[in-house]
Amino acid sequence: MMDLLLAKDMGFCFGVKRAIKLARDIRKKTEENVYTMGSLIHNPQVVEKLRGEGIVPVSDLSEADGGYVVIRSHGVSPEVRKDIKERGLKVIDATCPLVKRAQEKAMELVKDGYETFVVGERDHPEVEGIVGYTGGRVQVINVDDEVEIKEDGKVGLIAQTTQSMQSLEDAIIKLLPKTKELKVFNTICEVTDRRQEEVRRLAGMVDAMVVIGGKKSANTSRLAAISRNEGCMTHHIETVDELKEDWFEGRDRVGVVAGASTPYWVIDEVICKLNEIA
Ligand code: SF4
Repeated sequence: MMDLLLAKDMGFCFGVKRAIKLARDIRKKTEENVYTMGSLIHNPQVVEKLRGEGIVPVSDLSEADGGYVVIRSHGVSPEVRKDIKERGLKVIDATCPLVKRAQEKAMELVKDGYETFVVGERDHPEVEGIVGYTGGRVQVINVDDEVEIKEDGKVGLIAQTTQSMQSLEDAIIKLLPKTKELKVFNTICEVTDRRQEEVRRLAGMVDAMVVIGGKKSANTSRLAAISRNEGCMTHHIETVDELKEDWFEGRDRVGVVAGASTPYWVIDEVICKLNEIA
């Protein structure tokens, strides 16, 4: 007999719910094409479902043949926004308010003369958007980077919304001794922070963890990484089909967590299957 310990908070966060609602609302209202700039969220099952409803992801704007483009919750850079408008496409902005806040705080720091750093993943669309809004005047750093301060003045710091609090704290520890003034905005999303705390707590109580969500989802991958760092045997799956019974042989307690872009139906299927195995 195996016990299942479910995280208190799983599945879509408010930013993802809002993005999907905005896309569906415009789909209902118009006969015109509705596109999303890249995948609306980092979950292939949801993206395919939306495609079936007529909400089509495009990787390049040249693929869009008139109509609306929904900007996803991670946001886009101002150049992409300009490109959408110049092509005569209409914008539905589903950028999460917390991502917008990170963009605004980065712009504020740069405008006020701070040499600004962003803790995050350089290639992530959210970070590309933040870099774009500051005209490329922020430096992206990650946990392992050695940080060099170029100017002997004021230093500013923000984080990608899905970073761990630990990464932001590590960056503060690196930067503070190198400058006389450090201005930090905590731009980490509280949903992300809460879920990371929860996976850390669960990892200490179970002997295996199942993390459900898109393999390209930054917040889901981070949940899996935290669980592994806590020394817990961790399986990151996208759908129920990836579950293997033999992962749980000899395991008494199994934790289940899911990312902010994981739909409830995928979570339900995994929990049902785990109950059968248990
Ligand atoms: S994880 Fe947080 S920042 Fe990202 S979309 Fe959801 S609420 Fe917004």
